[in-house]
Amino acid sequence: AAEPEDEDEGIEEEKVQNRVTYNIVFVTAEAAPYSKTGGLGDVCGSLPVVLAGRGHRVMVVSPRYLNGTPADKKFAGAFDLDRRIKVHCFEGEQEVAFFHEYKNGVDWVFVDHPSYQRPGNPYGDGHGAFGDNQFRFTLLCHAACEAPLVLPLGGYTYGGKCIFLVNDWHAGLVPVLLASKYRPYGTYKDARSILVIHNLGHQGVEPAVTYKNLGLPQEWYGALEWVFPTWARTHALDPGEAVNILKGAIVTADRILTVSKGYAWEITTVEGGYGLDELLSSRRIVLNGIVNGIDVSEWDPSSDGHIVSHYSADDLSGKAQCKTALQKELGLPIRPECPLIGFIGRLDYQKGIDLIRWGIPELMHDDVQFVMLGSGDPLYENWMRVAEATYRDKFRGWVGFNVPISHRITAGCDILLMPSRYEPCGLNQLYAMRYGTVPVVHATGGLRDTVENFSPYAGDGNGEGTGWTFSPLAKESMLQALRTAMMTYRDHKSTWEALKRRAMLRDFTWETAAIQYEQVFEWACIDPP
Ligand code: ADP
Repeated sequence: AAEPEDEDEGIEEEKVQNRVTYNIVFVTAEAAPYSKTGGLGDVCGSLPVVLAGRGHRVMVVSPRYLNGTPADKKFAGAFDLDRRIKVHCFEGEQEVAFFHEYKNGVDWVFVDHPSYQRPGNPYGDGHGAFGDNQFRFTLLCHAACEAPLVLPLGGYTYGGKCIFLVNDWHAGLVPVLLASKYRPYGTYKDARSILVIHNLGHQGVEPAVTYKNLGLPQEWYGALEWVFPTWARTHALDPGEAVNILKGAIVTADRILTVSKGYAWEITTVEGGYGLDELLSSRRIVLNGIVNGIDVSEWDPSSDGHIVSHYSADDLSGKAQCKTALQKELGLPIRPECPLIGFIGRLDYQKGIDLIRWGIPELMHDDVQFVMLGSGDPLYENWMRVAEATYRDKFRGWVGFNVPISHRITAGCDILLMPSRYEPCGLNQLYAMRYGTVPVVHATGGLRDTVENFSPYAGDGNGEGTGWTFSPLAKESMLQALRTAMMTYRDHKSTWEALKRRAMLRDFTWETAAIQYEQVFEWACIDPP
């Protein structure tokens, strides 16, 4: 190897050479670009690539969803490995196959089974969640536990010494299977499991009688047993007995991560714990939070293929053109001076859509434009259509999931609103800051951790902060924060420019997050399970 040119480079080189590398197995219900409904897909599409780039051997195991739309083409580069296994669960034997694509340094492994081939998204269709999701994700977990042992990827298997990164409840049976079915027989003795909680609101809860379907030894029932709180029961005689897959993962995983420090704390409180706060508190010693990074090549205003004009923190002139183009595309009056507010996200109670819905009639009295992109709850989808018809010159509601439009809204708006009830990390505020779009967010979880509240007199009177965080979660405080932002936009131009630039220069790269993940891998490997 050539001699390093200067001392710093030499140190860096040495660090890389001495870095411990791991065999890492992500297990996830989504991984972009193959499948994505939200942040989980983004994370499991980007972090593996960054970890692979840092020298680790990385596999991602997720279902091979085919829904009969052009999206199926995304799986075209993955080929059948011709390795079938039989999974014993749901009182029978299920055969699954594995497809594989090696791309960007990562082994993308897709579990193939007829239950993943149907119209809709990974979890459901227009009629709601699929009734057999417990079955579909049980298959995923069993298959993921076998994959490192049986798939000769690039010529040789990952073997039993690996780190499983288990994402949300869909992958939650993996640590339970390691503890109950593999380790007692000597397999995976040196493996570790890290549960990553992206959203505690979904736990994989089903009636207790379904335990026998999961393919676990009877004596492990206690790990999944859950008696849910009285308020959550459907009628007075309901005993509330259930199996809770996420609970099983919390009990058995070697370590637990969430996608921000703030959320790691919130889930140990009664308000944020969804009935699992005491259990999570009891595991606080192995619980950490790491804020997600973003894919800075996909989300880059200086090269984004979805926007009409490129710009950077050094020259923001292209942003004004993006705003004009967005107003034109939406059929809104082309008015550079009018603040344009955006919202992008799932139309879900979690996202605080109800607050927007109650706030809009009042906000529409102001000189403002507002665009929403989202799909989900039909109640809110209909409301968006009605609001668009009511406020023709000011409001646009785009119902659907559309990545190019999401980029154009992120670039073209002045302000991005996120009134999430809770937000484990949140990605849109990170994209917004990178695009010089000022976030106005509820002070919760990852939003509070990543958006620094604007303070006009700090920083030697030049101002500090990258957006506005409001609290409590109420229509009034949301409107107040929005109006402060709008007033700053209109009347304090230099302050606004500085705010945008500060936001654009924040570091939200995956590299920073990956270094913290490596620290957690190290901790996981110190203690024997
Ligand atoms: P969550 O995972 O809770 O849905 P995040 O903010 O972590 O929320 O991630 C949401 C991701 O999904 C972002 O990449 C966002 O841009 C994208 N997204 C959500 N709704 C839409 C939509 N209607 N069209 C395009 N992208 C969307």
